Amino acid sequence: MKVCLIAGARPNFMKIGPVMAGLRDHAVEPVLVHTGQHYDDAMSAVFFDELRLPRPAHDLGVGPGSPVSQLAAIMLALEPVLLAGRFDVVVVVGDVTSTLAGALVAARCGIDVAHVEAGLRSFDDTMPEELNRVVVDRVSRVLYAPSTDAVANLADEGIGGRRVVMVGNVMVDTLLDNLERARARGVAASLGFEPGGYVLATLHRPSNVDQPARLAGLLRALGEIAVRRPVVFPLHPRTRRRLEASGISVPPGVHLAEPLGYLDFLGLQADSALVITDSGGVQEETTVLGVPCLTVRPNTERPITVSEGTNELVGTDPDRVIRRALARIDERRGAKRPPLWDGKAGRRIADDLVTRYG
Ligand code: UDP
Repeated sequence: MKVCLIAGARPNFMKIGPVMAGLRDHAVEPVLVHTGQHYDDAMSAVFFDELRLPRPAHDLGVGPGSPVSQLAAIMLALEPVLLAGRFDVVVVVGDVTSTLAGALVAARCGIDVAHVEAGLRSFDDTMPEELNRVVVDRVSRVLYAPSTDAVANLADEGIGGRRVVMVGNVMVDTLLDNLERARARGVAASLGFEPGGYVLATLHRPSNVDQPARLAGLLRALGEIAVRRPVVFPLHPRTRRRLEASGISVPPGVHLAEPLGYLDFLGLQADSALVITDSGGVQEETTVLGVPCLTVRPNTERPITVSEGTNELVGTDPDRVIRRALARIDERRGAKRPPLWDGKAGRRIADDLVTRYG
């Protein structure tokens, strides 16, 4: 059985490890392709080191560029790899440009596509990731859904039967495997914070950071929240670029940082009083950690983190963000586990792949 696994951006790397580990239990070594969509140490190499991922068999090295130029470059570089590889199945994860490129090229090369994290929908067509999700699911032969809402979304689009398997959440596999190591690093203490003594923030969605007025409003909100508790704000490269270009000043109490490695970021999440984010993965991680989370977006493709977890959609109005942050800081609801978010999703995926293609 020949499996190709494609990854390329930060939120992919924590999703591939559990699939690789599950396949290895069946003595299958997938051929890992890194597209190079994220290419620097802080957004890529650190995850390979910390999560002990093998070196990719193919590094397409596409590097920086606009989303469409990256999409095109990945597709052109990937086609010969997939044609030469004689793969039974190409596995793609998540909803980034690399996911879309991998699925389209595999489908056009006549190779089955399996999508990990299938069926999530924000129903917000202005989000680039929503287009990726819809198209990838449409061309996938096998759809691994993380939650029952995802299965229902696929059914609404006429995708069901044997193609769809609810397997749980691979991000949670990686979280549970690494939580102890993450806590042992004591990153909060090394920054001078007590457990619960700070708020953690991440923002990188184009809708929040690309317009200076929106970004300035959210920075003001973080500044108000920092009066109550200091805010640690590791900057996604996109956010740093926008912040520097706009000249917006950073309020006192808001501590900017470089993007963190997986273990340090997980350790900081686990001990924070509150997380403020627009990330997809962080909504899930805070739910499993039992840490209150405010999502600065009008919608989410992960509604289960609201209905069964600690997440709250607060929208993008800075005053509302401030109000809800001050109301929820320190709230502890205990760790939540939606069905099958149990650390075994990677194993279920591997078992299913072997049943189909082994
Ligand atoms: N993350 C990280 N360092 C950071 C910020 C986030 O390791 O400085 C991790 C986070 O724990 C989660 C993943 O990156 O596992 C989420 O990726 P991101 O927010 O970039 O993408 P999204 O989930 O929104 O697609």
